[in-house]
Amino acid sequence: MITLHEAYEQGSDDVKAAIQAFGASHPSTVPTPGATPPEPDWKTAEKHFTQLTEVIMGAAIPEQPDRPSIVRRAEQEAVAFLLAVTQQTNFRCPICVMRYRSPQ
Ligand SMILES: [Zn+2]
Repeated sequence: MITLHEAYEQGSDDVKAAIQAFGASHPSTVPTPGATPPEPDWKTAEKHFTQLTEVIMGAAIPEQPDRPSIVRRAEQEAVAFLLAVTQQTNFRCPICVMRYRSPQ
């Protein structure tokens, strides 16, 4: 499966910007208002991108038995999803949102 880093390397400027925004939504430390934003926690962002791809792929599997093409399609959809959602102000990663909602 493609990694966030590979998607970044292969992506257009728009894709790169979307991936940067996705990374920034996973700060390595708690952001302080007015201060320089913390470095992205790329390890978490990478993990959540993979989970996002798996969620998309899981939904697609019953319709198509051809797994390699499903994986490719899911990767493209995950990148397209990032392109769309990172346009929003106050964007939040859906995997993080799901995590906050589920009981510990
Ligand atoms: Zn996340």
